[in-house]
Amino acid sequence: MPGGFASGVTFPRTAAEVAAAVAAASRVLPIGAQSSLTGGATPRGDVIISTRALTDVALLPGGTVRAGAGVPLAELQRLLAARGLYYPPVPTFEGAFVGGTIATNAAGAATFKYGSTRDWVEAIRVVLADGSLLDVRRGDTTASAAGAFEIEYASGVVSRVPVPAYRMPGVPKLSAGYFARPGMDLIDLFIGSEGTLGVIVEADLRVVPLPRRSLALLTCSSDEQAIAVAAALRREAAASWRGEGPLDVSAIEYIDSRALARLPSAAYTRAGMAPPAATAVVLLLQMEVPGDESAAMARLGAVLEACGVGADPYLATPGDDRAAARLIELREAVPAAINALVGSAKAAIDPAIQKTAADFIVPFDRVGESLALYRAGFERHGLDYAIWGHLSDGNLHPNVIPHALEDVERGRAAILDMAGAVIAMGGAPLAEHGVGRSALKQALLRELYGEQGIADMRAVKRALDPFWKLAPGVLFPEA
Ligand SMILES: Cc1cc2nc3c(=O)[nH]c(=O)nc-3n(C[C@H](O)[C@H](O)[C@H](O)COP(=O)(O)OP(=O)(O)OC[C@H]3O[C@@H](n4cnc5c(N)ncnc54)[C@H](O)[C@@H]3O)c2cc1C
Repeated sequence: MPGGFASGVTFPRTAAEVAAAVAAASRVLPIGAQSSLTGGATPRGDVIISTRALTDVALLPGGTVRAGAGVPLAELQRLLAARGLYYPPVPTFEGAFVGGTIATNAAGAATFKYGSTRDWVEAIRVVLADGSLLDVRRGDTTASAAGAFEIEYASGVVSRVPVPAYRMPGVPKLSAGYFARPGMDLIDLFIGSEGTLGVIVEADLRVVPLPRRSLALLTCSSDEQAIAVAAALRREAAASWRGEGPLDVSAIEYIDSRALARLPSAAYTRAGMAPPAATAVVLLLQMEVPGDESAAMARLGAVLEACGVGADPYLATPGDDRAAARLIELREAVPAAINALVGSAKAAIDPAIQKTAADFIVPFDRVGESLALYRAGFERHGLDYAIWGHLSDGNLHPNVIPHALEDVERGRAAILDMAGAVIAMGGAPLAEHGVGRSALKQALLRELYGEQGIADMRAVKRALDPFWKLAPGVLFPEA
C-alpha cells in the first residue's frame, strides 16, 4: 500500500505503556509484523504503536499459553514445539504476530480442520481508546437480549455498544469487519476488528499436542480432477475425525496451471520434481499421522486411484523436515513469483501498478462453479491471472498479473463484479486477509453487508472510539 507516513512511532514494553501511548495520542495505528495485504498496517499520519516489544510468553495450566501481542507465530511455535505443543490456526506467513493475527482473525491452510484464530482465543487484554485496560475472557460477557454490550471505562463513564444487525455468511473463514450475532461474546467483537476498537496487548490461546505430520504433493490433470480429489479427501478427513478411518487430512492447498507456469524452473528443481504438464494443477496435502503412517498412505493411494490420478505423489514422511520444507517452499514460491511479476511491471511499465488480488470463499460444494466464475471474470476483462489457495475451505486467491496500469483498474472491476456472485453462492469476498485501508476491500465489505451494515459497524466504532482515534480509515472511511 503506497503513500504511508507516520507522525511518530512508539515501542511500548508493557500494557501500561501501551495505555499511556493511546491516551496521549489523537490518532494511533497498532501494528504487528506489518504483513497485512490490505494496507491495514500502513499509517496515514497516525502515531504507530509497534507491538514488537510485547513478547512475554507463559504456559498456563489447562492447555493454554499467554502470549504478548508482539510474539511472532514462528517463535511461538518454536517455544511450544519444545514442549510438544502446537498452536493450529496459523496463516501461511508465520512471521505474523499474535496481536496482528487476532486483529485480522487470521486463518490458514489448516482452518479446514482447526477453524480460524477466533476459535483459539480464550482471553485478551485490550487497551481502549481512552487508555483504559479491559480484560475480556470468553464466556464472561455476552450481548444483552436487546442486542448490546455495556462497557464501563476507568472514568466511570458507561458506553452502550450495539450489536450490528447483519447476518454473517456461514463460511469457515471470515475477516470482514465486526463479528455480529445475537447473544454474541464480547471477545468476538474485538477479534477481527483490525485495530479499530482497541489495542490487544496479550492473549490466552488454546494449544494442542504437536501433531506428527506428513505432506504429499499431487499432480492432477485438470481443475475437475483436483476438486474431485479434494471432495474425496474431505470425506476421508471427516470420517477419520469421527474415528472411522486413517486418513486425517488437515489441509488441501491448490495451485492452478497458470500459477505453475510462472514458477522458475529452480523452484521445481529445489522441490525435487519435474515441472508438471501445461494443463496440470497441483494439490499439496497436509496429513496428521499419529502412529504408523502405512494405513493412511494406503488409503490415500486408494483415493487417488479412484479419482484417476496416475502419477505417484511426492511425499514428506513424518519427521523428514527437509523434504517437508522443500514441498512447502514450492507452495510459497507461487505468491513470490506472482509478486515478482507485479514488481517487474511496476518497475518497467508504471510505478502506480499494484498487486490486485481477491480473497474469496464459497461453500466447498460451489468451488468448481467459483473457479469457472473467476476465470470467466478475468477473461471477460482481457486479463492475465493466476489462482491458488486453500481449496479444502473453498478459499481461493484469484490474482491479476498486470501488463499495464489499466490492468489494475480492470482487475478491481472484475473482482467487484465477481463478488456479487460469490455472495449469492453463500460465500464471502473477504475470507482471511481482512479489509484494511484498501478501497477495493472496503467496497467488497459494502457489497457484503450493504450501506446499513456499514452504518451498524460505524455505530459500534462510535460507541467505543467516539473521537475516531484507533486505526482511523481502516474497515471504512473516517466519519
Ligand atoms: C506471504 C503472505 C502470506 C499470507 N498468508 C495469509 C494466510 O494464509 N492467512 C491469513 O489470514 N493472512 C495471510 N496473510 C496476511 C497477514 O499475514 C495476516 O493478515 C496477519 O494476520 C497480519 O499479522 P501482522 O502481525 O503482520 O499484523 P499487521 O499487518 O501489522 O496488522 C494488521 C491489522 O491488525 C491491526 N493490529 C496489529 N496488531 C494489533 C494489535 N496488537 N491490536 C490491535 N490491532 C492490531 C493493525 O492495525 C492492522 O489493521 C499473508 C501475508 C503474507 C505477506
